[in-house]
Amino acid sequence: MDFKLPVQVNTAIKLLNESGFEAYVVGGCVRDAVMGKVPNDFDITTSAYPEEMKSVFASYRIIETGIQHGTLTVIVDGIPLEITAYRIDGEYLDNRHPENVSFSRNLKDDLSRRDFTVNTLCFNEKEGLVDLFGGTDDIKNKIIRCVGEPDRRFNEDALRIIRALRFSSVLDFGIEEKTAQSIIKNKALLGNIAVERVRDELTKLICGKNAFKVIMNYHEVLEEIIPELSALYGCEQNTNYHLYDVYEHTALALSSIENDKTLRLTMLLHDIAKPLCKTTDLNGVDHFKGHAYLGEAMARDILKRLRYDNATVNRVSHLIGLHSERAPKSKIESKLMLCEIGVDDYKAFMKIRRADCLAKANPHSHDEKLKNMQAFLDEIEKNNECWSLAQLKINGNDLKQLGFKSGKKLSAVLRALLFEVIEEEIPNDSEELKKRACELL
Ligand code: ATP
Ligand code: MG
Repeated sequence: MDFKLPVQVNTAIKLLNESGFEAYVVGGCVRDAVMGKVPNDFDITTSAYPEEMKSVFASYRIIETGIQHGTLTVIVDGIPLEITAYRIDGEYLDNRHPENVSFSRNLKDDLSRRDFTVNTLCFNEKEGLVDLFGGTDDIKNKIIRCVGEPDRRFNEDALRIIRALRFSSVLDFGIEEKTAQSIIKNKALLGNIAVERVRDELTKLICGKNAFKVIMNYHEVLEEIIPELSALYGCEQNTNYHLYDVYEHTALALSSIENDKTLRLTMLLHDIAKPLCKTTDLNGVDHFKGHAYLGEAMARDILKRLRYDNATVNRVSHLIGLHSERAPKSKIESKLMLCEIGVDDYKAFMKIRRADCLAKANPHSHDEKLKNMQAFLDEIEKNNECWSLAQLKINGNDLKQLGFKSGKKLSAVLRALLFEVIEEEIPNDSEELKKRACELL
């Protein structure tokens, strides 16, 4: 394998070797390199014990990141490198953390505590690739497989359950059968894991390229994390527009949008309120009135519970509230929408609507409408047409000079002028606007 390590990494490995210790890059970076991807960070594993590591790097800046677990961060030529001593995890009693850790001189000890075979590969330039658990074959065959007995490994640390799904989604790998069965069997253990850690893995999972299959095949695991999803599963949509139940529609819509965290979360939860809003009319046709509004509130609760940051909670739930709005049919309607939601949400709305439609019976029913929506925006931007108070060629100070007093009336007049400009009843011209303001007064 042609794997060139950064000089700083080689320097660290060489320094450890010169003091008589083994050292390799390990884990994600080797996996990525074997897959032909450029790794983003390099973790180093070594036979030196923590105190020995400290003396090897005595002349370097050291940050004691996780010294109890044998991890040091060493700054080599400006680059922080995470270096960890070969480690054996003690007994796990809480499905989360080992009671204690001890250190080892034997590489295999360290590799056997790692989660999946594809994450056990090691490399240094002297010895090349070291593969003690068949990681290379599993990469070739695109398989996520536990190191050792899956039931035991998931009981030790239940985060591995969602990590397995994350790697399957991101790497586009399948999950080996025993590992897969054990994931389903042990899913409830996820409840013992800090919600932030589960959330971070979930976010990566839904942004992965194989997200559709993982979400479909492991719905029970997702329902463990977001119980509200279970009502979507099997919730039929007997309408002319839909082919799939709400859950499958959700998974398809999610995988039809770009892999941006906000947009993927929006699609994951966009129809979360449909089961609650479902009614069936006398013709047997289903309706889901108000599901976007209720969905906005439900998404807010779910995202808060998963401890997403406020900006994400607000943006995602807001976009869900918007997702079933009517698309503007004219340039004036576009400007009214821009005035209400701003240009970022306008653009996001187009992406959301497109993904939502791609997951319906007639995936291209909205293509024309969305093309127009984009064309209206292009024209508005090209002509710098006004849709906001900031663009209006009159402001509060101008009105005060005309004798207005600041207060409610002044802002009402400004807004009235803005809507007259948006509706193309008067031009966005300061003289005309002043004249009209005096009329309104
Ligand atoms: P990424 O590309 O997301 O960084 P990664 O494989 O480097 O992928 P990390 O979470 O950075 O994943 O972990 C680094 C390595 O540590 C993994 O490759 C794996 O060997 C080991 N590891 C991480 N988390 C666990 C865990 N919960 N249980 C066992 N081993 C783990
Ligand atoms: Mg990593």
